[in-house]
Amino acid sequence: MARAALIVHGGAGDRPVAERPPTQAAVEAALEAGWAVIAGGALAAAVAAVRLMEDAPLLNAGLGACLNADGVAELDAAVMLGDGLRAGAVGAVRDVRHPVDLAREVMEEGRHVLLVGEGASRFAAERGVERCDPEVFVAARRAGEAAPSGDTVGAVARDSGGGLAVAVSTGGLAGKRPGRIGDSPLVGAGLYADADAGAACATGVGEGFIRTVLCHRAVERLASGAAAAVAEECLELLARRAGGRGGLIVLGREGAPAAAWNTPHMAWAMRVEEA
Ligand code: ASP
Repeated sequence: MARAALIVHGGAGDRPVAERPPTQAAVEAALEAGWAVIAGGALAAAVAAVRLMEDAPLLNAGLGACLNADGVAELDAAVMLGDGLRAGAVGAVRDVRHPVDLAREVMEEGRHVLLVGEGASRFAAERGVERCDPEVFVAARRAGEAAPSGDTVGAVARDSGGGLAVAVSTGGLAGKRPGRIGDSPLVGAGLYADADAGAACATGVGEGFIRTVLCHRAVERLASGAAAAVAEECLELLARRAGGRGGLIVLGREGAPAAAWNTPHMAWAMRVEEA
């Protein structure tokens, strides 16, 4: 029996100091929501945590998503399992209320890994995933304008059967070009899980994570390294090789999860089952 563990982040960035306590509270609520269902497996826990954060206006996912240069929210999300390297992802969706649910459907259906834009919306309709008027995200963002910044959300879980899962959801970067997709829905860049080694999830300026395929590198290192050292080394590699900024949460097959970031702030929280 493995010891269950869950680590959750609400994004790495330079969030104003006044916003940090409510951001931390949202992340801790997500940890609770995920932990409450961890007996149902690592995927259930990771998705429950991310789903709750998609409803938090201060976080850059779902309702809190930032807008692109056209003033529209284009959302990216993904899930991955260590067992069988199963993955599902969506990019640049405008009308899906919980993009993480749609990413999960892509994985469950199993034919493809990544669906984007209009095709992803049609798949949502086919699979009965909740859709909404794109204006919902624009209105929510306007209402939350006191909160100028936001960050991607993610969760990495290990259940007591040793199953590993990652889930991630984001609005990407504020003012991004329409059609831009970041690291978050890209397997290997924004997330990775491998039952033989561990799982990782990224946040920060996505282009650096794409160019370094950083989550894959982190998981390879987790096969033999401790989570805390792996997270630090990979952030150092991101900065050195790609001039990148952001954060990582990682979790090995055994032991405690770890978080690292090279931005002024990252909200995160974790829990490990008692021995
Ligand atoms: N990684 C996300 C992206 O580049 C943004 C973030 O984590 O804040 O789309």
